[in-house]
Amino acid sequence: MLDLTTQKLAEARIRELADFDALTGLPNRRLLHDRVAHMVLAAERDQSTAALMFVDLDHFKRVNDSLGHTVGDDLLRAVAQRYLGVIRKIDTLARLGGDEFIIVLPDASAATAAEVARRLLEVSATHFSVAGHALTVTPSIGISMFPKDGEDIDRLLKNADTAMYKAKELGRNGFQFYSAEMNTETLERLLLESSLRGALSAREFVLYYQPLVEIESGTIVGAEALIRWRHRDIGLIMPDRFIPVAEETGLINPIGDWVLCEACRQARAWIDAGLNLQTMAVNVAPAQFRQRGFVELVAGALATSGLSPACLELELTERTVMHDADIHLGTLDALHRMGVGLSLDDFGTGYSSLAYLKRFPVGKLKIDRSFIRDLETDADDQAIASTIVSMGRNLRLTVLAEGVETPEQLALLREMQCEMAQGYYFSRPVSAEEMTALLREQAFMNRS
Ligand code: C2E
Ligand code: MG
Ligand code: MG
Repeated sequence: MLDLTTQKLAEARIRELADFDALTGLPNRRLLHDRVAHMVLAAERDQSTAALMFVDLDHFKRVNDSLGHTVGDDLLRAVAQRYLGVIRKIDTLARLGGDEFIIVLPDASAATAAEVARRLLEVSATHFSVAGHALTVTPSIGISMFPKDGEDIDRLLKNADTAMYKAKELGRNGFQFYSAEMNTETLERLLLESSLRGALSAREFVLYYQPLVEIESGTIVGAEALIRWRHRDIGLIMPDRFIPVAEETGLINPIGDWVLCEACRQARAWIDAGLNLQTMAVNVAPAQFRQRGFVELVAGALATSGLSPACLELELTERTVMHDADIHLGTLDALHRMGVGLSLDDFGTGYSSLAYLKRFPVGKLKIDRSFIRDLETDADDQAIASTIVSMGRNLRLTVLAEGVETPEQLALLREMQCEMAQGYYFSRPVSAEEMTALLREQAFMNRS
């Protein structure tokens, strides 16, 4: 009995020596290889992304040189303990030797990796008490992402190492991604992404409205709902900044549902108040349009608000409908049968296939504002705009010009017999209250 126990203990000890770093008790290089191989398999299976971080302590050698190796060793153990407090249970913190650590983050986005790196820097800011010394030791961190920056451990390690040197060059006590484009984008995205999650429940979104004007009569006949985010720290954030993040994180669906319901409610309220509003235009993101049950969602928003389907117009971009055109044709047809209007937003910037225009039950084209901006001076833009206008007329589609800012642009569009316009010349997007006033006053009617 005794013999066996001793033997078991010895075996366990050998395994420990083979797999774990004697100083810190963390997985060593051998076990790290196993874990990364495992992570790669899992990530391939789940089609997920993962991150590998190379962490090197700044000026660690100075501690060893000035205070001796015992203090250095104690400090390494303390650092390891603190880092363990930052990572998740499924993550691995390993020690390669010296002052080099590796962190493996399975199932992690670049934003997650950046968040972990940020917290490592944060916990490193307070000093360590080691053998009566108050020591501060900051890390330089390099991050490589699976599969983008490498599909096996050697590549991932090498690239994370390269990124770590970059972090050192940039002044240490920081982190860098191997892929340069992530460095600039990630921090802002990270901030947006984490607060975007709570924004709906915190009621931080608001809809602004921009008048859609009939050129001939100058009547405001509709409004386009444009979302804004009133962030508690940053202030007003425009959709171009957060819609892409919302699309990437899947948050666009709940946000888009809210926009739809709120816009329908507001439209119904204006109509009930006796105001002349024929169209409420709502932008629909590709992912939103593609989600299962989108048609039912629209039907639900209409039913709840009591808005007539004919008053709702969904704005889609060519990008949205051309992708998997056949699948989308079913959704478009169902919406069309319900009586909901469909328009092609930013028209002219995508594929603009005439064949699709014929197949899709679209009722309106919105000429992208890039063609309107230089309308007075650019002959090509004039040609494009007037071509879209006459093509629209021939296909019995309403054509609206976006981004009309000057009376000269409006005059040219009137000459082309463009039916509708929208832009700063009439009004910027405004709050619901201001839009109520605009609808009431109808100040552009018969304006020369
Ligand atoms: P969009 O649908 O093409 O909306 C028109 C954009 O042009 C709006 O920008 C509007 O403020 C701006 N604009 C209007 N008239 C003028 C003008 O005369 N001059 C100039 N320079 N700009 C003008 P905004 O509100 O920043 O929205 C940007 C884009 O964000 C929208 O482009 C739309 O694609 C997207 N978006 C806005 N709200 C939503 C939403 O609720 N859901 C989704 N999925 N996307 C939205
Ligand atoms: Mg739009
Ligand atoms: Mg547009």
